[in-house]
Amino acid sequence: MSSPVRVRFAPSPTGLLHVGGARTALFNWLLAHGQASREEREGAFVLRIEDTDRNRLVEGAEAGILDVLGWFGLTWDEGPDVGGPYGPYRQSERTALYREAAERLVAEGKAYHCFCSPERLQRLREEQSARKEPPGYDRHCRDLPAETVAANLAQGLPSVIRFKMPRTGETIVRDLLRGPITYQNVTLEDLVLLKSDGYPTYHLANVVDDRAMRISHILRGEEWIPTAPVHLQLYAAFGWEPPAYAHMPLILAPGGGKLSKRHGSTSMEEFRAQGYLPEALMNYLALLGWSYDGTTEIFSKQDLLDKFTLERVNPSPGTFDYAKLTWFNAYYINHILTPEDLTARLMPFLAEAGLVDPAAVADAGHPDRARVRPAATLLKDRLETLAQGPDMLGYFLTEDLPPYDAALLVPKKMTAAEVLTALEAVARMLPEADLNDEAASEARFRALADELGLKAGQLFMPIRVAVTGRTQSPGLFETMRVIGARRCVERVDRAIAALRAVAADPATA
Ligand code: GLU
Repeated sequence: MSSPVRVRFAPSPTGLLHVGGARTALFNWLLAHGQASREEREGAFVLRIEDTDRNRLVEGAEAGILDVLGWFGLTWDEGPDVGGPYGPYRQSERTALYREAAERLVAEGKAYHCFCSPERLQRLREEQSARKEPPGYDRHCRDLPAETVAANLAQGLPSVIRFKMPRTGETIVRDLLRGPITYQNVTLEDLVLLKSDGYPTYHLANVVDDRAMRISHILRGEEWIPTAPVHLQLYAAFGWEPPAYAHMPLILAPGGGKLSKRHGSTSMEEFRAQGYLPEALMNYLALLGWSYDGTTEIFSKQDLLDKFTLERVNPSPGTFDYAKLTWFNAYYINHILTPEDLTARLMPFLAEAGLVDPAAVADAGHPDRARVRPAATLLKDRLETLAQGPDMLGYFLTEDLPPYDAALLVPKKMTAAEVLTALEAVARMLPEADLNDEAASEARFRALADELGLKAGQLFMPIRVAVTGRTQSPGLFETMRVIGARRCVERVDRAIAALRAVAADPATA
């Protein structure tokens, strides 16, 4: 058996999970659980929390990321909650390791203490910008005499540990998707490894942990490419074999540029709240950078596991297309979910809107499930998101319709008085019509239209508005069947009352 594939997703708990992060997590997971297992290699997907930038931490963000990743459908073999052989998996619990590693490099002359004050560094940046030079540390402390360093440390002067970047030569990043990317070492900075608060920087912690956790492949966003030469130099300084690198393509906003809040939702949490299905997001995000044959669009999670290969990830940027995501979502709602499943997923949205008993959210046997199911079945080809459920299913679920404009009852080229006469005839017929037999009730209402000298549509529209409160609905007879005879009778009576009021008012009749 060839070498194991161990990958990691390493979010910083600084906020919500960006769709780009979710796609990176997905591709990591697919490499470990799909491609690797097909190649008969052992695969592990590790979740590591990179929480060493204490200023950017957001309370609750870690729990939120774990929660939404689970909702998305990913499972991790090792992580802060499930543990594993290379834990702990939260960097803030591993600080001794980083300190030890940094001190080792100092002892070997590959890193150094830097005592430059924040004020000096600020001045340096200002001078560099005045001279139109790129910002960067000027290596002021790189060659301090050993006695000075010892004296400063003895005095307790605050310091950081910086990496001694080679000043000559080049570093070649061999990206699995892009081929070699060459950096001249003189352009690389003496970056901070250990901060004065004792916490490591991202660079040090990331390298130390990827090594300690036996990571074989680093799949991460393209924005991290510039850190790769620095990390490769760190691996070399430690004398470690580096993992393989593959940087995932950027996700651009519809008009170009980085996808950000001003374009719309960017986080998985937002899409979840808007009623996107995890399956649809997974399918859509997989295709934002990966393709199978360039034409197939619908991939279940299992299809992705069966078919994903890193080789077919395209390094050129992808554009986030909200309409396309919505198309996938509507497709999954209409064609993939069973009526039971759609019903179950609508429940939280309907409960939130007060349309069903909150107890029905978790209880599959609750009678409210049976009320929602036929309505969901009728509307599944119109729903684009679950969040549209309360609006689109509301008239099936409430006893009383919310107020609507009586003018909607009156089709063009008809008067309120004519509609009133028609609806009065409907009201007389309704109690004896068997709404459960859609074909028969349709035939009866068509015959009624003939009797009244109306076109079918002229009769059906007022009925539709009367029973739903709106001009658009699924087919009238299936809609009436699901609403049920009693409520249809009551709603037609209410429409009649509204029309009488209009007809009695000469200004509007
Ligand atoms: N903590 C980094 C992030 O928030 C991880 C980058 C990496 O995968 O190396 O994206």
